[in-house]
Amino acid sequence: MSSVSVGSPIPQDQDDTLATNSGIAEQAANKGKASRRRKTSHLKVVPETLELRERLRVRCAEVASKFDRSRPLTKDEMESVARALLENEGLGESYVGWIMVMLSSEFYREQVAATDPKRRLFLLPHCLKHAEGCPADYDEFGMNCKQCGACSIADFRTIAEDMGYKVLVAEGSPVVLKIIVSGYVDAIVGVACLNVLEKAIDKILLAGIPCMAVPLLSSDCRNTSVDEHWVSEMIQTRCVEPVQQTRSYVHLLRAANDLFQGDLFERLAPRLRESRPAQNGNLALADLDPVAATEGLALDFLARGGKYSRPFMTLATYDALTGGDATLANGADFLSGYSDSVLRAAMSIETFHKASLVHDDIEDDDGYRYGEPTLHRKFGLSTAINVGDYLIGLGYRLVSRESRTLGADCVADILDCLAGAHTRLAEGQGAELLWRDNRDKRLSPLDALKIYALKTSPAFEAALYTGARLAGPTDDMQEPIRQYARNIGVAFQILNDLGDWQGDSNNKLVAGGDVLGGRPTLLWALALANLNDEEQQELLGLSAADCPLSSAMRVSRVEQLYRRANAFEQARKLVDKHEQRALEAAAQIKSEPMQRLLVYLVDTVLERNDAPVPTVVPLQSLGALPVVSR
Ligand code: SF4
Repeated sequence: MSSVSVGSPIPQDQDDTLATNSGIAEQAANKGKASRRRKTSHLKVVPETLELRERLRVRCAEVASKFDRSRPLTKDEMESVARALLENEGLGESYVGWIMVMLSSEFYREQVAATDPKRRLFLLPHCLKHAEGCPADYDEFGMNCKQCGACSIADFRTIAEDMGYKVLVAEGSPVVLKIIVSGYVDAIVGVACLNVLEKAIDKILLAGIPCMAVPLLSSDCRNTSVDEHWVSEMIQTRCVEPVQQTRSYVHLLRAANDLFQGDLFERLAPRLRESRPAQNGNLALADLDPVAATEGLALDFLARGGKYSRPFMTLATYDALTGGDATLANGADFLSGYSDSVLRAAMSIETFHKASLVHDDIEDDDGYRYGEPTLHRKFGLSTAINVGDYLIGLGYRLVSRESRTLGADCVADILDCLAGAHTRLAEGQGAELLWRDNRDKRLSPLDALKIYALKTSPAFEAALYTGARLAGPTDDMQEPIRQYARNIGVAFQILNDLGDWQGDSNNKLVAGGDVLGGRPTLLWALALANLNDEEQQELLGLSAADCPLSSAMRVSRVEQLYRRANAFEQARKLVDKHEQRALEAAAQIKSEPMQRLLVYLVDTVLERNDAPVPTVVPLQSLGALPVVSR
């Protein structure tokens, strides 16, 4: 099995202990890679005594001081060093999670210290509050401490706010990533339990965003405690000398987000009709002349939320293959030099994605998208279908008119890739709709995987290929990109299936929605393949339109049958398999910055999420974040 070896920042020529570490690190890295998606609860123990925590923190600072800070550590590298360090200390693996947090905090200490406190975000967990008597209330930003002094939150908040920090008493990395991408902060310091920090590592650390954290002493979610002097010292860490900045994707994440904001959005996708941007999110059809209405609705939906991960992939691929300067500390300067043609090509990928969401929501009759009623629920079916068609046309137009800058061959190649992806996506969606409307609900795991490879992978391929083709000829990269996209797309869709059993409070989706919506999933196919004849008949009966059971009963019985068929575990194993194949395809690409990007995407796109989705803060309200001073 070939794994991606992107030049390790782990020190090679250090004193004996570290030299030993690096050897062990390599072995551990390969071992870690093989099973990095296993359960981790046994690795999240906090060292029991302050004396032991102090000793290990000093050791982490020593090891981290020798790291090459030019680029972020991967999760595997961090874990392998943590294991080597604990072995050297004669301690077991239970502290691995805690050591990883300490190592990454030491790795970024100087960069956080060099960041103006006004550009830092301080995150506190509400479980530190005095649970019995806390008078605080909550709003969309989290908890509003009343400074009653009954717990340490008030003190920490005062220290931080006096220094100019933005302070949030909230959890959940998606909210934090939105705040970072929106450009309000450049570094994060926080207090949280190891469960929350494990997720934060996936999202924030891997993106190369400077952050430090002090783990809570337990994950009890109530009346928790922390080494308070460590937190005060962390908040007040300062240095004025310039320090080496680690490469980061934050500028590219922001650039992808900024494509759909304000003047830049209007410049890249100028309104050809008299349509006006929505006022306060509400576009009134009555105010629009009929000819301008479709453009108005389409552009409004295009700019309305989402992670913009696909345009990020296109811009990051283009950057990786043109020198990687956008990941440097002054990466934003390089990005401001990108031509509108390159930016429009990245925008077109999101435009196709938004078009497929409009049509998907109609085909699945979903009620909410981005926390708001879906287009067809708001403006009617035919209008929504038409807006989706407009977005498809716009997706092509954003590229087709750029041949003067990009060259006719480049434009033709990108349009051909987009058209190919578009038709395959429709084939996958079509296969899903035919199955859904068919009375016979038999489905083999292979059929389900074929539908996923058609439905989800083309969007990844189009995003990566467009970025690569903008950078130049892609002959030696085309097939590895296709294989990578195919496998990460399938793994992503299987994770969606597994995520469906968590529900999604933001879009008011209940757990098991795929069963109730009659969507063909790998879980269904695996269950049919593993259950005995009688159980298969029962499962098929639960999807029948005339099934007498209530929705809740049906979902609960299907879940029992899935467990009996070991469908969930098998699906997780298939995610690991497709993830490994994606990494093997990435290893065939010669460009190191491109390999690094593909590893980063595997770590972030294929995030296993076993917690319910937290409520998302609407972007436009971030301006009202407490103590904002730009
Ligand atoms: S200090 Fe703030 S968070 Fe702590 S108990 Fe009082 S109001 Fe609640």
